[in-house]
Amino acid sequence: MNNVAETGRRWCFADQLGPHFLDHPDQPVLLIESRAAFGRRRFHRRKAHLVLSALRHRAAELGDQAVFLQTRTYREALDTVTGPLSVCQPTSRAADSFVRSMPGVEVLPARGFCTDRAQFDEWARGQRTLLLENFYRDARRRFDLLMDGDEPAQGRWNFDADNREPAPKNTDTLGITAPWQAEEDEIDEQVRADLDRWEREGAVAFVGCDGPREFPVTATEAQSALQIFLRDRLPHFGPHEDAMLSGDRLMAHSLLSAPMNLGLLDPLECAYAAEDAYRGGHASLGSVEGYVRQLIGWRDYIWHVYWHFGADYRRRNALQAQAGLPDWFSDLDADAVQARCLRDVLAQVRDHGWVHHIPRLMVLSNYALQRGWHPAAVTDWFHRCFVDGYDWVMVANVVGMSQHADGGLMATKPYAAGGAYINRMSDYCGQCRYHPSERVGELACPYTAGYWWFLHRNRRRLEGNRRMNQPLAGLRRLKDVDEVVAQQRRLGQAAP
Ligand code: SF4
Repeated sequence: MNNVAETGRRWCFADQLGPHFLDHPDQPVLLIESRAAFGRRRFHRRKAHLVLSALRHRAAELGDQAVFLQTRTYREALDTVTGPLSVCQPTSRAADSFVRSMPGVEVLPARGFCTDRAQFDEWARGQRTLLLENFYRDARRRFDLLMDGDEPAQGRWNFDADNREPAPKNTDTLGITAPWQAEEDEIDEQVRADLDRWEREGAVAFVGCDGPREFPVTATEAQSALQIFLRDRLPHFGPHEDAMLSGDRLMAHSLLSAPMNLGLLDPLECAYAAEDAYRGGHASLGSVEGYVRQLIGWRDYIWHVYWHFGADYRRRNALQAQAGLPDWFSDLDADAVQARCLRDVLAQVRDHGWVHHIPRLMVLSNYALQRGWHPAAVTDWFHRCFVDGYDWVMVANVVGMSQHADGGLMATKPYAAGGAYINRMSDYCGQCRYHPSERVGELACPYTAGYWWFLHRNRRRLEGNRRMNQPLAGLRRLKDVDEVVAQQRRLGQAAP
């Protein structure tokens, strides 16, 4: 006899919308649009639009195969559903607890990731510390990706050194073919009208600006976006992966994190497709390796860290960062900011709900880390303000990676950097009212001053960390450190 999972209705959350969340193409489906989810917190308007558009497009695509319920809460919807239900493990701890508390709902292992939980646990058992690089190499072997027999292709596992080129000089754009472009339809229009109405009625409040949809909402659209990326942009992806240009917010990035986190793309299939581009001579190994690393390495690693370190991981605060987020930052008020890099990046978040990983890490998160903003508040901000932000993505990325709040479980040292780093990796500093080498006075770069302030504040906590010896020695040599600290305290939470 078939088990429930093979015969029952599959409940798919709004980030489980691809065909790989079903056991077979004809499986009955349950989709629920819960308005309460948007009422609780101020999400970016574009994120609300994208998620609802994707959910309603899936409902339209499935037609009679799906029961689509639009209710205030999930529980309200579930009260009306009869018959056996199964669901793939949801992606947040809250949703996971909720589905497991519902009688008659079978919870299946998660889908939409490459390495499953058992494989990760088996790998983790053999490790002293959970280094991403070791996890990634293990995944390359298991999936036989970019391998020549037992050896990595061209004898190299890692092209990070080649993929950290600074921004090219004398241009403000890489000049690469644009990514896939969305065309809105009547479902998008209806979502927009509903969001307008809910806002008018006071049921929800958003941050950020609305605008034409920029990301795929169906598996077909996501496949088109993937093919365009593989054809036009992947060959340019590697070398400037970590660079920023003021006239090119997209650089050669894939922009596929949003559809992938909606469950519209299978990451392993994307990784094999990228490998084909290398094997077919269409893209260099450096570019393809950089992309594959993001999919089977970083993305999966972040997912498993979310579950592996337990429910309290999100509350870690090893550096005792207690400050709240200032209003100008929470409200995405880029016009209040004069620091050119931060102003531009915050404006991109306001207008698009997306920036690539380096502005996230080295401009936004770096600023928060330097000023001691509470990691849980920073996590919440990233979750709400980014179209690809979900609890599982942001907890490990912010707590572990960017705010060093887990005390080094994930990253061996804090990702704090001064203006010199931003100056090297971007073209922002040239026309900024501040100067990256100044740390006190009118021209003091907020990142440079903030860097020394961060080190000074946390010097005792960071003392035992071998990788911090050099920066801390630099701090000891600094003659004007008291002046820097007094200046930063005086400036407080004012927009820089
Ligand atoms: Fe950013 Fe400082 Fe450079 Fe201005 S000088 S763009 S604030 S890093």
